[in-house]
Amino acid sequence: MTYITPTRLSDGRELIYFDEHEASADLHRDADTVQDDRALPPRGPAGSARYDALTDEWITVAAHRQSRTHLPPADQCPLCPTTPENLSEVPAPDYEVVVFENRFPSFGPELGELPTAPEWGTTSMAYGRCEVVAFDSAHDGSFGSLGFERARTVVEAWAHRTQALSALPGMTPESAWSSRGSISVPSSRSPRAGRSRCTWSPTARWLISRA
Ligand SMILES: [Zn+2]
Repeated sequence: MTYITPTRLSDGRELIYFDEHEASADLHRDADTVQDDRALPPRGPAGSARYDALTDEWITVAAHRQSRTHLPPADQCPLCPTTPENLSEVPAPDYEVVVFENRFPSFGPELGELPTAPEWGTTSMAYGRCEVVAFDSAHDGSFGSLGFERARTVVEAWAHRTQALSALPGMTPESAWSSRGSISVPSSRSPRAGRSRCTWSPTARWLISRA
């Protein structure tokens, strides 16, 4: 059984714990234990989407991502559980699987539909949602090193998010990829192993790649 506990980070982003063990779920249900004590600034607006009439594709431009966290040292890892010295993205002393909205998304947080009949020069907000899935609280490792139970919980988390995000207006799964440490691919490098990102946008392709 998977216990699902949703909460919010200090800037309003959604974070959801997926726990295999009731004791872990109880920990995440305790509001005092899992409160996000960071004073994060308000979330910025979505980037822009520009229609490329030559290729008949939408191109997203997310200038705000230039300030995102990039290869931080291990003691400042945003995906490790929070400690007094490192107030991370996961405000809990431990976790099993956790999903949260990306703080520096290429799409969203606004939701909506792209123009249906774009022409040369048509632009729009980069609607959508980007989420991070952390497979394990350990700083090192990979999906392949997870046990059966944990791997199943990860798949259940993916299924949960697929169903939930598919119900949002204009959403179609666009891409999911896994990042592993400094050798991660395809488009960004993450500070830890066992992490994947799911990006949802009004476009209609589903691509999976593994680092
Ligand atoms: Zn870490």
